[in-house]
Amino acid sequence: MHQLSSTSSATHINAGSFGLWLKQARDALRGNGGMDVPCGECVGCCTSSYSILLRPHDTALDIVPVQFLSGVRGMAYPHAKMNPLENGHCPMFKAGCCSIYSMRPQTCLDYDCRIFAAAGIDAGETRPIINKRINEWQFDYASAEDRDAHEAIKAAAAFITKHTKSFPTEHAFTNPSAIAVLSIKVYELFVGLVHIQDEVSFITRIIEASRKFDAMF
Ligand code: SF4
Ligand code: SF4
Repeated sequence: MHQLSSTSSATHINAGSFGLWLKQARDALRGNGGMDVPCGECVGCCTSSYSILLRPHDTALDIVPVQFLSGVRGMAYPHAKMNPLENGHCPMFKAGCCSIYSMRPQTCLDYDCRIFAAAGIDAGETRPIINKRINEWQFDYASAEDRDAHEAIKAAAAFITKHTKSFPTEHAFTNPSAIAVLSIKVYELFVGLVHIQDEVSFITRIIEASRKFDAMF
């Protein structure tokens, strides 16, 4: 995983209003609605070796052949994981598109690669298609607060990435999705923050802020 370069010469694709996106993303993280991503022709998340979590309410559970499913650690069936094929494609990705589009799992409805653009990080070196799109996204800002919020999310991601080994094991995130999500949950701690004096106690504040966010369902 790398921080995105601000001097990137990528083509730009409109990611929408940052303030509106952030509200929608935080609502989705609380289970209130999915994301509406202007994906266009991109099929990055269907072809990038993701295992897709299927939840009990996902009707896809009834149609995905069992050979593509496996258990999920710490979760009882009918939670299941749909595993990618050897080529990294989702087994439901056929003829260039999702073959179960109207029944695609909540995980797919919620996925939004703009979380990485918001956090200023890429999706990991094994996901070049997604990284290309991350570099292309460009948000609009309706206010100085929106810009400050974006800078705070990037600062949160940089801090969490740098100090991940100092977090307690259950919070020691190393994968880019988890770092981006945590940054979006706790970014308010980083708004206007210039210097962190005591990094250990700041990590405690991050964990508390994350718990508080999760408790607000
Ligand atoms: S990588 Fe991003 S733009 Fe591409 S399909 Fe996935 S969510 Fe859409
Ligand atoms: S279920 Fe459909 S939308 Fe979800 S990853 Fe597979 S092909 Fe893509």
